[in-house]
Amino acid sequence: MRFKTVIGLEIHVQLSTKTKAFCNCSADVFELPPNTAVCPVCTGQPGALPIVNQTMIDYAIKLALALNCKVNEYSRFDRKNYFYPDLPKGYQISQYFYPLAIGGHLDIDVEGTTKRVRIRRLHLEEDAGKLLHEGDSITQARFSLVDMNRCGIPLVEIVTEPDLSSPKEARIFTEKLRSILRYLKISTGDMEKGALRCDANISVLDLEKGVSSNRVEVKNMNSFRFIEKALEYEEQRIINTLLKGENVEKETRGWDLSTKTTVSMRGKEEESDYRYFPEPDIPPILVNRERIEMLRASLPELPDQKKQRFVQMYGLPDYDAMVLTADETVADFFESCVRLTGKSKEVSNWIMTEMLREMKEFNDEQLRIKPEHIAELIKLVDVGEISIKTAKEIFPEMFKTGKMPSQIVQERGLKQLSDERAIMEIAKKIIEENPSVVNQYKAGKTNVLSFFVGQVMKQTRGTANPKLVNEVLRRLLEE
Ligand code: ADP
Ligand code: MG
Ligand code: ZN
Repeated sequence: MRFKTVIGLEIHVQLSTKTKAFCNCSADVFELPPNTAVCPVCTGQPGALPIVNQTMIDYAIKLALALNCKVNEYSRFDRKNYFYPDLPKGYQISQYFYPLAIGGHLDIDVEGTTKRVRIRRLHLEEDAGKLLHEGDSITQARFSLVDMNRCGIPLVEIVTEPDLSSPKEARIFTEKLRSILRYLKISTGDMEKGALRCDANISVLDLEKGVSSNRVEVKNMNSFRFIEKALEYEEQRIINTLLKGENVEKETRGWDLSTKTTVSMRGKEEESDYRYFPEPDIPPILVNRERIEMLRASLPELPDQKKQRFVQMYGLPDYDAMVLTADETVADFFESCVRLTGKSKEVSNWIMTEMLREMKEFNDEQLRIKPEHIAELIKLVDVGEISIKTAKEIFPEMFKTGKMPSQIVQERGLKQLSDERAIMEIAKKIIEENPSVVNQYKAGKTNVLSFFVGQVMKQTRGTANPKLVNEVLRRLLEE
């Protein structure tokens, strides 16, 4: 291995506060018509003064604590100056010199081993507006248009140390972060809607020559899959450049979905370009120990803790526990099912395979099934009313319609045939009709049993109890 990849992330999270960071405008603007959630403060009118949203600070502190950061009792806002039409004030209120929190870490699971990723800092800032460019596919705009609804929505920026060593790890990290955001209920973490935005810095170390490439910043990766894809592309592009003995430019590149490549956007700006200076209109943020400890005490059980508890309490393998606790709704669902059935591993199997697959397919839909459905399904299999195969077969319908499994079994006539006499009748007939196969069996070729089993299953449309079918057939053939 000649090359070693180094990745660090800068992630922006939109906080789901009711109002914006420094004014009383609604922060829930996703479905609002353009420029309807704006006021003199968030559009930067002369003389308007910001007032800090305290919920935003509490949310950010909770996240900092969940990421094991040190929360600073003193932090402050700064102005980051730049001109762009989506930023009416001409500067963004951010935190540069004194961030809210520093020095944390988040553990991620990479193919069964735990990897610690250090967090350098976590700070607050405000979002900018949105530009719709000429020819935009939705508005068919003839000019570039500015929507300021998003101006002033609170953001948390999380900067990691360059501890990630593959595109896959970058994706796992971001997914884990989203899981925590959702547990904390401080953000939707929705990448497609821009509530979670990930910029990645990537460089490649040439171990043979002992030198590192410049680092490239990659933007515009608006899904977890694209984080991995874009970084895989960029990693390879850097390696190819190094192999050609050429210089890797220090620049910002964007993921282009249509070509599945990264394209150069601009040379990398330097910090001094922003002329940061303290925000004069907002007093420092002072958070005392009591407030921090109160917020710490209010944290819910987080994914890692829940995972540990699932392993201990339910005797689940690490992997099951990790998958089940990634989403709190799924974790709660699991626990309710276990309460009803007392069968943790069986419940886990149903949820991890069938249920998560259906949930993925019907993304975002309200769950129609309840723990009672899984409990009944397990019971029907246990008492032999239906086979595992049938249970799997009816799962999608149960999931989509919310019908109880017993009802589906009845409607579709899938009740398992466990009547020994009925099976015997069918088996006898098949044996009579296939004397040559019977002779093979009697001559010692006992694996032809599966032929008979198959025939019985076919005649009973797969409902015959397989264990019973085997028993009956063996008995008849050995008579
Ligand atoms: P900048 O001043 O360009 O913003 P920072 O030092 O603030 O740079 O780091 C920004 C991000 O770049 C961080 O997430 C950090 O982990 C990452 N980073 C730093 N050095 C490297 C490197 N050699 N390769 C990849 N990423 C890096
Ligand atoms: Mg930076
Ligand atoms: Zn406003």
